[in-house]
Amino acid sequence: MTEHLDVAVIGAGIYGLMTAYRLLSGGVSNVAVFEMNVIGSGQSSRNAGGIRAQFANPHTIRFMVEAESEWRKLSRELGYNILFTQDGYLFSCFADEDIELYRLHRKLQNENGVRSVWLEPDAVGELVPGINRENLVGGNFHHLDGILHHDAVISGLIFAIKRGGGRIFEHTPVKRVETAKDGTALVHTSASTYSADYVVNATAAYAPAIAAGVGVSLPIKPVRRELVVTEPLQHFMKPMLVSLKYGITIHQSLRGEFIGHTSMGEPQNFDNTASLGFMVKYARDIIRLLPFMRNVRIVRQWAGTYDMTPDNSPVLGPSPSLPRFINAAGSSGHGFMMAPAVGKFIAEYITTGRINELMKPFALERFEKGELLTELVLSNRGVL
Ligand SMILES: Cc1cc2nc3c(=O)[nH]c(=O)nc-3n(C[C@H](O)[C@H](O)[C@H](O)COP(=O)(O)OP(=O)(O)OC[C@H]3O[C@@H](n4cnc5c(N)ncnc54)[C@H](O)[C@@H]3O)c2cc1C
Repeated sequence: MTEHLDVAVIGAGIYGLMTAYRLLSGGVSNVAVFEMNVIGSGQSSRNAGGIRAQFANPHTIRFMVEAESEWRKLSRELGYNILFTQDGYLFSCFADEDIELYRLHRKLQNENGVRSVWLEPDAVGELVPGINRENLVGGNFHHLDGILHHDAVISGLIFAIKRGGGRIFEHTPVKRVETAKDGTALVHTSASTYSADYVVNATAAYAPAIAAGVGVSLPIKPVRRELVVTEPLQHFMKPMLVSLKYGITIHQSLRGEFIGHTSMGEPQNFDNTASLGFMVKYARDIIRLLPFMRNVRIVRQWAGTYDMTPDNSPVLGPSPSLPRFINAAGSSGHGFMMAPAVGKFIAEYITTGRINELMKPFALERFEKGELLTELVLSNRGVL
């Protein structure tokens, strides 16, 4: 006999797990998560853990204000320390001609609830001792942005989902979803078939394949992204440091390692192997931004697959013609930070039928309507 689920969640990354957790804590008890590999084996265990509300689009800024407030509560809620520190994000600025742009970003952020401020070079130097001061003109800073540990978040969610009676099936790929005549769905996994009132497609760059099965077209493409980790040094750099000039995002972990990325053209595929080309470019770029790194040893490098949309923003909410087939994918390189609000709003939609105002701009229909959420400046310079 076919087992019936209230909600079938496909994908045990941060979007799938956060949605399942919110559903269970909101009183929906019959929830199952299907994962083709192991829990968190996609991007959700391969990211840098950066959390910021400094965006250049009002909808994303407001969404992230909500998400940051959820992150602040999560350790207490889960009874599990997710290692979230709020020491700010610093967008360093190295060109006089960019100062006006930074001012416009701040204005937009300030108007939408984010108190980012301009720092002069000396203040930047205090936050990042050792930064290359040549041509440094200042930087935008928001003290409530921060860093967390993705593995701690995933672990806390697994315990909470299991406590709440949810089930997570690992090594159980969903092969196909079809819509049943009564509006519910049939979810065909490698192990068996389930019927479900709602399906949440949280499979990142694999989401278009799942959606295609029910006739929904998702504009999401895979792109490789890599990170490099150094040996640990005594802790001295607190904020996440971004340099648009050098294309770098870097922070120092609680253990003291420097975890960083530089922008470069990466292949559009699912290849998660780390490349020598990236390592060489990163080494060159990071030494120009933080010259002391010349003498620091690299100990690790890894890659993950971004799920990119045409406007570098996720697709969130019900599919236009299928209100019970919900997408939470296309996070475009900054999805971890958005996740608590994603899970909250998707669960809210399932339990009340209401689409939260903060989630509405991320609907799939925006691509047809030409209402893109483009983050031109940041994405053009490789900072996502
Ligand atoms: C190098 C790197 C650095 C990053 N840095 C940051 C950062 O600092 N801050 C930030 O916010 N974000 C960052 N990101 C992005 C962030 O990690 C992602 O946006 C986020 O994890 C996406 O979560 P997800 O649940 O949508 O996807 P994933 O974690 O990829 O989860 C999708 C899951 O679906 C599963 N799946 C796929 N198909 C099927 C199927 N048919 N059946 C069952 N399961 C299936 C996959 O195995 C996978 O586990 C970074 C990403 C990378 C790669």
